[in-house]
Amino acid sequence: MRLDDEAESQNVEDRRGGGGGFGGFGAGPRTIGIGTIIVALAASYFFGIDPTVIMQGASVLQGQQPQTQQHVPSHAPANDQMTVFVRKVLGNTERTWSHIFETDLNRRYAPPTLVLFTGATPTACGTGQSAMGPFYCPGDQKVYIDLAFYDELRKRFGAGGDFAQAYVIAHEVGHHVQNLLGVSGKVDAARRRMGEAQANQLSVRVELQADCLAGVWAATAERMNQQLLEPGDIEEGLKAAAAIGDDRLQRQAQGYVVPEAFTHGTSDQRVRWLRQGLDSGDIRKCDTFAAKQL
Ligand SMILES: [Zn+2]
Repeated sequence: MRLDDEAESQNVEDRRGGGGGFGGFGAGPRTIGIGTIIVALAASYFFGIDPTVIMQGASVLQGQQPQTQQHVPSHAPANDQMTVFVRKVLGNTERTWSHIFETDLNRRYAPPTLVLFTGATPTACGTGQSAMGPFYCPGDQKVYIDLAFYDELRKRFGAGGDFAQAYVIAHEVGHHVQNLLGVSGKVDAARRRMGEAQANQLSVRVELQADCLAGVWAATAERMNQQLLEPGDIEEGLKAAAAIGDDRLQRQAQGYVVPEAFTHGTSDQRVRWLRQGLDSGDIRKCDTFAAKQL
């Protein structure tokens, strides 16, 4: 990706300790090692549970109020390459989605905040853990990412590259778009009336739609700035989508596949819907709920 000319987002909240970046000074709740993250991250995928659901469930069970905590930045914004990359990609999603909302939906786009954290952090959906992988919390309209996930994606899943990393952000921003469009609310209500297998099937449609919306973002961003994508970028994104398909993750973890437990879709499905968004650049082509075949 060529991001030189991209303006950085002002909506990144850095909750990492110290001066940011990977070498924090331990001021943050950095209690989970990478090994634990790998195991638990895998677990959260393999058990096929949407982390936001676990967290919401947990806060209901414990009778907690949504946690809000003021984080007063005590240091200058981190300016390491990775943090700047995240701010630029998020900035681009803001401009691109504002454009799509105005031209296609005739409404204003309200951008999410992206929170960088390590270990664990309070969210309106309960305590967020790095082990859950990146996630979006509709309750506070924030995307949560521990950048260690990118190492994971590259080393463990063989899906590196800047566009693969941008796709992860774009997928979470896709969940925010679903929230703004009222999809998330309807789905949550429907899920509560369903058995687990059915609820998982619905969850797959939500996830594949977020993949499609990530594709719509990239296609539209490319239309608005034809310098943005470089040869190989799209392939990187598709490779990442394939790497985190439920079937491949399950097979890696346990040697067999349990389709009823899928919550994100198979590798083929994820690739297909990301491509659907990329090829069409049209949010109307992302209706995974109406699709007969995923
Ligand atoms: Zn998702």
